[in-house]
Amino acid sequence: MWLKKGVFSLVVFALISPAAWADITITQLANDGAIISDGTTRVMIDGMVVEPYSVYGGLPENAAAMFKKASGPYAGIDLALASHRHHEHNQPFFACEFLKNSKDTVFVSSSQVLGLMREKCRKLVTTDPRIREIDPQYGEPQVFEVKGAKVTVFLLSHGVFKYATIQNYGHLIEIGGMTVLHIGDAEVSPEDFQTAGLDQVKVDVALIPFGFFRQGPGTAIVQQYMDAPVKIAIHIPPDEMDEIKADIGENFPAVTILEPTLKEMSVSSALQ
Ligand SMILES: [Zn+2]
Ligand SMILES: [Zn+2]
Repeated sequence: MWLKKGVFSLVVFALISPAAWADITITQLANDGAIISDGTTRVMIDGMVVEPYSVYGGLPENAAAMFKKASGPYAGIDLALASHRHHEHNQPFFACEFLKNSKDTVFVSSSQVLGLMREKCRKLVTTDPRIREIDPQYGEPQVFEVKGAKVTVFLLSHGVFKYATIQNYGHLIEIGGMTVLHIGDAEVSPEDFQTAGLDQVKVDVALIPFGFFRQGPGTAIVQQYMDAPVKIAIHIPPDEMDEIKADIGENFPAVTILEPTLKEMSVSSALQ
């Protein structure tokens, strides 16, 4: 087992600091969604998901109400991102609704994501300068900055066959002096993580789909490419939450699961 259990638990415990010390906070949204904030700038990734899709959860009623009004944790989102077009990551109708209500939010994503949204809010997608399309390629990540948050977007394969053509983006979000990694639905493939250069990046917080903690190559990929001091398991179907929580708690006790939805965690860089 590669996890140094005792030491690791201690470090993570120390990093979960009271909000007053915090440099950034991570708020869990539906499924793969999160808001990352340094107290000034708020970045949301895969957060425009409201309804359940397939086995994956939507928002509870109170959270859906706040989403609709762009209030509570959904207030003041400076930048919204979507990893790819699958509906447990971005729901076109709700994305359009949110971007109409949250008038200062810049949205950056792929042509596939924007293509589906165009069917729901053509004018917004085609004319609003807040909506920006990016097209990173292998070996050519795209980097941009919004209100002091620096974002690097790069390709990570979603898989083969029908998934081969999905534009799935990994994101490195530098905010509050820390680096947060989100990988969308990246395939459990070490080659792709290597190509993306993730062995060279110091990540402070990694948001990792729970499947990587199952047996197989996933745990080795976590160790080599996503071995951040803070690891948060995401993309957990609500019906399997108890089972997965028990499983990860036993085998990877240093890995955090933020539940219920809207649970927040503070991470302090001063303690790293
Ligand atoms: Zn997914
Ligand atoms: Zn997907």
